[in-house]
Amino acid sequence: MEKKVILKKGKEESLLRFHPWIFSGAIATIDGNPDEGDVVNVYTSGGEWIATGHIQVGSIAVRVLSFSPVAIDRAFWLDRLGKALDVRRSLGLTDRDDHSIFRLVHGEGDGLPGLVIDIYGRTAVVQAHSVGMHFAREVIADVLMEIMQGRVESVYYKSETTLPFKAELERAGCYLIGGPIEGDEPLEYGMKMPVDWISGQKTGLFIDQRENRALLEKMASGRNVLNMFCYTGGFSLAALRGGANLVHSVDSSARAIELTRQGVENNFPGDTRHEAFAEDAFKFMDEMESIYDLIVLDPPAFAKHKDALKRALLGYRRLNEKAFRKIRSGGLLFTFSCSQVVTKEQFRTAVFTAAALSGRSVRILCQLHQPADHPVNIFHPEGEYLKGLVLYVE
Ligand code: SAH
Repeated sequence: MEKKVILKKGKEESLLRFHPWIFSGAIATIDGNPDEGDVVNVYTSGGEWIATGHIQVGSIAVRVLSFSPVAIDRAFWLDRLGKALDVRRSLGLTDRDDHSIFRLVHGEGDGLPGLVIDIYGRTAVVQAHSVGMHFAREVIADVLMEIMQGRVESVYYKSETTLPFKAELERAGCYLIGGPIEGDEPLEYGMKMPVDWISGQKTGLFIDQRENRALLEKMASGRNVLNMFCYTGGFSLAALRGGANLVHSVDSSARAIELTRQGVENNFPGDTRHEAFAEDAFKFMDEMESIYDLIVLDPPAFAKHKDALKRALLGYRRLNEKAFRKIRSGGLLFTFSCSQVVTKEQFRTAVFTAAALSGRSVRILCQLHQPADHPVNIFHPEGEYLKGLVLYVE
């Protein structure tokens, strides 16, 4: 029997605009007894087929895979992953000797809600954010090997911890294809990046800051740099290569600090310009001297849900105010928010308020965002999450 979802009257409207999520409240009936993660066909109340997608328990009940009637088979995955690779190839990210890190699939942005694939040298890291993608992991890994034509040898699978299949995953082990590759050093524009996909955050690296790191590199010469919330120290590496005078990296996670030190040692052995501190950001900023003239603030998402928005905005304001109060005159502040629920305007207002409260005169030099290998589906504006500002502080 066909597994199908029938919408309430009028609830097809967002689907006619190709929005890829169907909320549970839009559904009238579910037929054919689908299990969580199954592929279902979606029909309007009038009985017209409108989409195919993965069904899941929760407020987003169906994640749409196709708005045209195709089977979700090997050919489908080959087509979608192939197109995603074409996009990255056209961005010049796939065929360089000095660069082997990029995001191949960015969920909704690549027409594959619930799926992330990051490439680190010869290893691909696949992450499922939905039960449907979890069930499809084997065919995805197989197709991935085919389209990457020998450039990928291992596929590591990492699921979201909140999903119900976590226990099964741990029992199953996580390499779907191959295993750890001795001596493979993933590069970001020539920099050897410390990546730990097994125990690290996300898939092991914040690839989404790549272009912003490259920008900082151009502006770091001769500066005293503070990289706050450094994680694996990407901005610190960029600052060192850009000719910074000194670089201080701070993160509350001891493991992150260890990886940062490793990354510096691998790229700049014996460089004494760098120091790393495992400390709380707010405490560090309260106690630090006014010695920095380039500060990076890249905190974790302060708001994961809409109800946390107010507190998050206050958090951004406080954090930025601390930086404004301490940054040297003529300093540059790279400040970011990766909270999807915080809009560009709200973030800018929080930073604006911080500047006003600190009494500093501030110019916006650059407005930053996620890079092109993290594309935004034009019908799914929720996919735009990373925003940043480069500010000149008089
Ligand atoms: N800028 C990094 C990514 C930052 S992710 C990059 O380019 O790779 C956010 C980091 O903030 C995480 O590593 C997390 O450990 C750290 N963090 C979270 N809360 C913190 C706090 N209160 N003080 C310092 N670091 C914190």
